[in-house]
Amino acid sequence: MIKLHSAMARGECVGLYERWCDATKEKDKRKRYWTYVEKDGGRDEIREDLAETIRSHYDRLERIAFNAFPATFKPDMWAHQYDQQANQVVCKVSEDRIYTTNGPDANLFGLEPNYGCCTANMHQGWPKFATHLWMRTPDDGLAAVAYAPCELSATLGGAEVKVRVETDYPFRDAVAITVETNTPVQFPLWLRIPGWAKSAEVRVGDGGTQHAESGTFHTIAREWNGTTAVALRLPMQVQLERRYNESIAIERGPLIYSLKIGEYWKYLRGEEPHADWEVFPTTPWNYALAVNAGDPASSITFEERPVGNLPFSPEGAPLLSTTVTVKLHTAGVLPGARSS
Ligand SMILES: [Zn+2]
Repeated sequence: MIKLHSAMARGECVGLYERWCDATKEKDKRKRYWTYVEKDGGRDEIREDLAETIRSHYDRLERIAFNAFPATFKPDMWAHQYDQQANQVVCKVSEDRIYTTNGPDANLFGLEPNYGCCTANMHQGWPKFATHLWMRTPDDGLAAVAYAPCELSATLGGAEVKVRVETDYPFRDAVAITVETNTPVQFPLWLRIPGWAKSAEVRVGDGGTQHAESGTFHTIAREWNGTTAVALRLPMQVQLERRYNESIAIERGPLIYSLKIGEYWKYLRGEEPHADWEVFPTTPWNYALAVNAGDPASSITFEERPVGNLPFSPEGAPLLSTTVTVKLHTAGVLPGARSS
């Protein structure tokens, strides 16, 4: 049995590229900070095809913001990578590497490995995500396009409206939304229901529980007056996604699970805490998953841990998955530290 953590996804299953296989076969394609940061803030339109928008923009936005992005930096954010590789098991100075466009130190964790741009840009990712959680809609309403704790104020139909979101999502499935206004006002509240959320539920005030269709915006059009609680539940089921080379990714809701490999951080240069580090594995990483592909829930279990101050760090992961594996006798490491 091995344990997988929710906060360590370093793989192409984050779906950063539309054509995943192309990205994998062309092994010199890497993901950089600016790519994550652009995805976090730069695609803030609702297209006409809402289902496609949800799948291609917002489900993917959360995958990046909650998985790939935090995996590219140290939990204290003092060191980051310039190039992050899928399935990387070693991060070191690589004179012999599979990519040629960046320097040998591009996948170190450091202050400004390879080039300083990401040092200045990396901090924009989560703030941009937080400031783009809500949007106005063409019918003068508000749309929640991604979920995280937040507060916003807006003037809708001449009324001052405050919205508060309290949640431990993506580590829990409940999202509590409070709408407050002192002036009775009619406007629609649009709630994104992710493509993976097959049994989502919405309850407004003391009303009954409504089913919300996955891959849509669930719209609550009503008159808002005083304080109204909107309870959204997005139950998460384990899913397997097949990828290149018969690989399998374990996903549950917006989170992707990966093996927590023991890490040795070897000091390379610089002044702590903003130093450069190579990272080497101290535990095996070459396991195959022995899961029941037809019924993954029967062979993969999930355990909730408290949601602490660093929920996206390996040590602070609020969800732990356990599954059965088979240790492989061989598994290659491509030049430049990526598992083959
Ligand atoms: Zn950069």
